Amino acid sequence: MKKLGCGLVLMAIPFIFVAIILMGVVMVITGESNTTGSDAHSEIESEIDSDYTFNGVSPEIERYRSYFERYAKENGIEDHIEILMAMTMQESGGRLADVMQSSESLGLPVNTISDPELSIKQGVSYFANVLESAGGNTELALQSYNMGHGFIDYANEHNNGNYSKELAQQFSNHMKARLGWSVYGDPNYVDNVMRYLDKTEPDYAAGDADWALPLKNIRITSEFGWRTHPVTGERNTFHGGLDFGCTPADSILSVAVGRVVEAKHSNVGYGNYVTVKHGQNEYSRYAHLSSIGVSNGQEVNQGDALGKCGTTGSSTGNHLHLEHMTELGQAHQDKIDPKETLGL
Ligand SMILES: [Zn+2]
Repeated sequence: MKKLGCGLVLMAIPFIFVAIILMGVVMVITGESNTTGSDAHSEIESEIDSDYTFNGVSPEIERYRSYFERYAKENGIEDHIEILMAMTMQESGGRLADVMQSSESLGLPVNTISDPELSIKQGVSYFANVLESAGGNTELALQSYNMGHGFIDYANEHNNGNYSKELAQQFSNHMKARLGWSVYGDPNYVDNVMRYLDKTEPDYAAGDADWALPLKNIRITSEFGWRTHPVTGERNTFHGGLDFGCTPADSILSVAVGRVVEAKHSNVGYGNYVTVKHGQNEYSRYAHLSSIGVSNGQEVNQGDALGKCGTTGSSTGNHLHLEHMTELGQAHQDKIDPKETLGL
């Protein structure tokens, strides 16, 4: 294991306890694996309820699609078929018999499964297992497939159960020190798998752009538009959002289904804030939170708690500053009055 310090090898074979024998094989095949088409499975994709599309279309992986479908269904994770195929692309490029490199999860030595179907059956079952332990968090589950269940415990202990690349690096360092190894897993595993996937951007707001209220009880304290700034006293500043009075006990709720695209901690300006993307040209932003309860990339439903009301950043008291943007980085004057979208 001590000889595994080569970065190239790490990129190619992220699974832990990788056999040195594999190195030559995988290094050769990664050179070829970029020659991919893009039309081989479009008719099947349309039947799959997934936010992702497998783009690393390799015939070596495609030929096993029926196995992925069968065992994903058996394990109740049929919405993860594309992810499982991307993982397999990363694990073996589909060119080894143990395509998902799953022998180790059975307690066997590396690459000892000689039947691809058995490898997929075991790999899918193991992924379903870590996905459940990860509370359905795909990124956390992926990293745990690579680094073992211990990563989930580590994330629970150090990062509120959320995945981050930094955390994966920390855990890898922690395990290397503990075991005296020079390499432990691949801290870039999530990125390495995701590069084989195209994230589809569903138009969440299609047909009905109306928003639900961002607080259980609402009280508007400052309107959208031109005003005297409450902190700087400056006249004629444009207030790009709508303010609601709230207390730190109040949860801030997502106004619609979407995906978190910003979850930032700050002491200035917006303070701690979250931005949710609802569609191609529709974003909601929630500012001055005391704490943030979601992470970047997370899918949220209408009414899901994003964090708690607060007064962080440029703020004179506990309140929610809600914005409706049609693009990120938009000038305040170009934003939309949330009152309209909320139907107030
Ligand atoms: Zn405001």
